[in-house]
Amino acid sequence: MELLDGKLISEKIKVEIAKEAADYLAQSGRKPHLVAILVGSDGGSETYVASKIKNCEKVGFKSSLIRYDDTISELELLEKIRTLNQDKDVDGLIVQLPLPKHIDPEKVTEEIDHKKDVDGFHPINLGRMMRNLPCFIPATPYGILLLLQEYKIDTTGMHCVVVGRSNIVGSPMSILMARNQKVGNCTVTLTHSKTKNLKEQVLQADIIIAAIGKKNFITADMVKNGAIVIDVGINREISTETKSGYKLFGDVDFKNVAPKSSFITPVPGGVGLMTIVGLLKNTLASAKKEIYR
Ligand code: NDP
Repeated sequence: MELLDGKLISEKIKVEIAKEAADYLAQSGRKPHLVAILVGSDGGSETYVASKIKNCEKVGFKSSLIRYDDTISELELLEKIRTLNQDKDVDGLIVQLPLPKHIDPEKVTEEIDHKKDVDGFHPINLGRMMRNLPCFIPATPYGILLLLQEYKIDTTGMHCVVVGRSNIVGSPMSILMARNQKVGNCTVTLTHSKTKNLKEQVLQADIIIAAIGKKNFITADMVKNGAIVIDVGINREISTETKSGYKLFGDVDFKNVAPKSSFITPVPGGVGLMTIVGLLKNTLASAKKEIYR
C-alpha cells in the first residue's frame, strides 16, 4: 500500500503556483485575486474558507473574504455577485456552500460569471467539461486528477466506481474519469443511494472514488485487493483529543481498507488539501486568461 499524500503533493504544486503568481505579478503589476463569500457561521464552512484565504496569501495571491449574516436576502446576495462580476480586479469568485435554506444555491451558482467561476460549478463550465473544452474543472475533482497525475498512475482501461453523484464531486468526477485524457480513459460506474447491490458494484472497482458524506461507509469487504482508493469524505465529529475540538473522518474505513489497497488517500491529508490546489490553479488560470479571454 502506498499513501497518496495530499500534503506532500499540494505543497509541491503550491511552490509552482507561487512561482507563476510571482511571474504574473512582475508582468502585469497585479496579483491574482480570489473573492470568497461566506454566509452564516457554519463550523465546517468557516474552516474551509479560512484555509482557502490562508493558502491564497501563501502563494502570493490577493484574497478577500466577504461575510454576511445568514439573514441576508437572496436578492442582496445576487446583487453583490453581479457587482463582483463587473469588478475587473476580481479573477475568481466563490460562494461557500451550504447556504441558508431561503437562498437557492442554483440561482447563486448561475449568477456567478462563468469566467470567474473558479469552483467550476456553473453549468457553462460543467457543459464545457463534458465536451472536453477549456473550462474551470470543479476544484475537488481537479485536485484528484492532479494527485493521480503526480503519482503517475495510468488509469487507462481501469474500472472506476464513483460512489455519490453530487454536482460538485461525484457527477463531474465520473465524467472526468471517462474522458480520453491522460488521467481518464476509465470505464466508469456512477453509484448513489438508489444503487442496487452497491457492495458488488464497488467490489468490481480498480479505482474507488468515495464521495458520500458518511463516516467509514466503504468497508474492507467492499474493496478488491489492489484497488486504488480515493476518499473525498470529510465527516466532522466533536472530539476532546484535538486542539480544534473536532476530528475528521473519511468515507472509507481507512484502517481496514488500506492494507488491501495499492494506493489510498488519508483523511485528513488527502483530497481536501488537493481541492485547495485545484481552486488556486483555477484562480491563476483566470487571472492569466488561460481559459477565457
Ligand atoms: P452530497 O450529500 O451532495 O452527496 C452525497 C452522495 O452520496 C449522493 O449522491 C447520495 O446519493 C450518495 N449516498 C448517500 N448515501 C448513500 C448510500 N447509502 N449508498 C450510496 N450512495 C449514497 O455530498 P458531496 O458530494 O457534497 O460530499 C460528499 C462528501 O465529500 C462529504 O463528506 C463532504 O464533506 C465531502 N467533500 C469533501 C471535499 C474535499 O475537498 N475533500 C469537497 C466536497 C465535499 P443520492 O444522490 O441518491 O442522494
